[in-house]
Amino acid sequence: MGETEAKAEFPFDINPMYEGERVRKSGMYVELGGVNKPGFELVLFEPDPAKINDGEVTLIGPDIEDIEEGGLYAYAMIYRVSGEELEKDLEAVIERRDHEYQGYIQGYMHLNQRAEIWVRISKEAVKKGLKSLKQIGEATISLFKAELPFIEKMDATYITDEETVIQKLEEANQIYEARDVRSRGLHDEDVDEFYQCSLCQSFAPTNVCVVTPDRTALCGAMSWFDSRAAARVDPEGPNASIPKGECIDPIGGEYTGVNEAAVKLSSGEYDSIKLHSFLEKPHTSCGCFEVAGFYIPEVDGIGWVHRGSKVSETPIGLPFSTVAGSVGGGKQVKGFLGIGIQYFYSPKFIQYDGGWRRVVWMASDLKERVGDAIPEEMKDLIATENNAKDIEELSEFLKSVNHPVVNGVTREVDGTRITEGWTKKEEEVAPAAVVAAAAPVGEGLAQVPITQVMGSEAPLKLIFKDANISIGKLIIKRKGEK
Ligand code: SF4
Repeated sequence: MGETEAKAEFPFDINPMYEGERVRKSGMYVELGGVNKPGFELVLFEPDPAKINDGEVTLIGPDIEDIEEGGLYAYAMIYRVSGEELEKDLEAVIERRDHEYQGYIQGYMHLNQRAEIWVRISKEAVKKGLKSLKQIGEATISLFKAELPFIEKMDATYITDEETVIQKLEEANQIYEARDVRSRGLHDEDVDEFYQCSLCQSFAPTNVCVVTPDRTALCGAMSWFDSRAAARVDPEGPNASIPKGECIDPIGGEYTGVNEAAVKLSSGEYDSIKLHSFLEKPHTSCGCFEVAGFYIPEVDGIGWVHRGSKVSETPIGLPFSTVAGSVGGGKQVKGFLGIGIQYFYSPKFIQYDGGWRRVVWMASDLKERVGDAIPEEMKDLIATENNAKDIEELSEFLKSVNHPVVNGVTREVDGTRITEGWTKKEEEVAPAAVVAAAAPVGEGLAQVPITQVMGSEAPLKLIFKDANISIGKLIIKRKGEK
């Protein structure tokens, strides 16, 4: 659809340049879905084209005109599609494009996917004449049909009535679950090709998204099956196959083909990725991950919190939003990782770093949600905010349950001991050890022993392991000093 045509038909511009546009709270007319209200988006394949009212948008619930400025509303977008070349496998693929195409609409912010969608409409858009969600639906259908010509007919039902959204959400969740379960029977070693997805490169240019049978996309919206179907039907689109090549590390999940793809996709920023590692050459994370993981050096373990968690703070003192800020941007960040919920069900779940034996903390609502993925022997050993609100409490809890990190983690898959345990770690650092800290000198960096600053009896212990720290200014004072 040309921009001129869009201007004539709709009271808003439609252009890929608006992708990534944010609508801040101060400029927001209405918020739909998000953390405050239920919401979801769903695409359903309809084999009988006669059942589709092509281009029609039905709205159930209050429209923009009836909505109070600043209001929070439930939101569902259900699309039905038909076409000769279409198949059920493509439902998830088309669904994921809703994020992309709605991002083209000026003054309309669409984030996340499935039952996590978060939409905001700007005051400016309403001022310019946006009156109805039907206008959004019609524009979205036009975009889908222009960009994906294999969609021959498409209609949509948008819902803002909260009760109806909740009721339909149950059905949607069953459909999402059925898609996910299908993927669990296939493994990385069973296939010759993985798939890349470059959709999120519009806002995270170095992101290298690799979808494999054992690693569903971190946004949770694309399984290996979905990606394969997308690559077949839209070979010029964002999903393309990655021939696996040679397996360099079967436990970490490192393949020559993936490494080559990493170089290409990140424009040389990254040259290797271990698909099933947390701490070494981890998969990059854009901004769409369903769950953020964070390494907790004090206990040598890993914590997890998900988008939309009711838990306000993790034991490292940060909420999801702040953890997410460290994870995202298409970077390979040691110590932080974004994943899709389904990855918890993978038999290769961060197996390079010990898998579930390395998990020390989870937000309670996340732990409950993926409870059936947690090995029986680990269930009581993983803390939540109910057991530990800070590092000290976490440490006490882990000791009390004799968590594997306390005495050292042995990797289940090959029996290799990969961590030393706390006792050994404490022995490694003598109380008067000289610990080097990096301090800026001129334009470079100099290694300054902390003992030069604090004296040899300083009651200070700093352990930096594989650290990459950038500090503008660090002031260390003696107790009581002002
Ligand atoms: S997170 Fe990855 S798979 Fe999902 S849309 Fe973005 S690039 Fe594609």
